[in-house]
Amino acid sequence: MNANNEFAEQTAAIVVLSGPTAVGKGTVEARIKQLHPELWVSVSATTRKPREGEKHGVDYLFVSEEEFARMEEAGEFLETALVHGMSHYGTPIKPLLERASGGSPALVEIDLQGARRVRERAEELKLNVFFVFLAPPSFDDLAKRLNKRGTETEEQKRKRLETAKVEMAAEKEFDRVIVNDDIDKAAEELWQILKLCAAKAES
Ligand code: 5GP
Repeated sequence: MNANNEFAEQTAAIVVLSGPTAVGKGTVEARIKQLHPELWVSVSATTRKPREGEKHGVDYLFVSEEEFARMEEAGEFLETALVHGMSHYGTPIKPLLERASGGSPALVEIDLQGARRVRERAEELKLNVFFVFLAPPSFDDLAKRLNKRGTETEEQKRKRLETAKVEMAAEKEFDRVIVNDDIDKAAEELWQILKLCAAKAES
């Protein structure tokens, strides 16, 4: 835990939600959006192809490798990461700062590499960001989730599980841990954190 950041001196109401692969970050994000449509959630750019039902500009900004590289070169991202060694993801910096500097809560859902990068950049940009780690109820639970996805080969699953084990240890780098044993409960806890950060940013 980062004791210095228990809602300390927020100058911007940015909350980063991260956690191990397959813990359900995207599901909790989708749930909080459903429950609180007024919440502003950062839309990442990605080079991966859209899945069925995903909309450009809503779920992601689906861009080509060339466009992603151009955006990166132009300094348009707060952070970028190559996720699962396959696709590039990045958090556009301008809309996030515009939103957060007004004291309104902003949620950023990214992987662990991204969260670490945001921590470095936050210092440089003098942004006070609150970091939330979404944890599975247990490691077995995470293994089950990885198995359930059904979209990966055995080898890919084994690799992801190895990664997940290492990722679980990152918990201590975060300001707060939310255990994802119930999606509604996790979304509500996250909402309370966002509200507190926003209140702090306003004061
Ligand atoms: P998916 O492609 O399944 O939506 O997301 C894959 C992973 O990429 C998830 O762990 C998600 O948190 C992460 N991710 C989504 N957007 C970003 C981003 O802008 N930056 C980083 N670093 N990770 C992201």
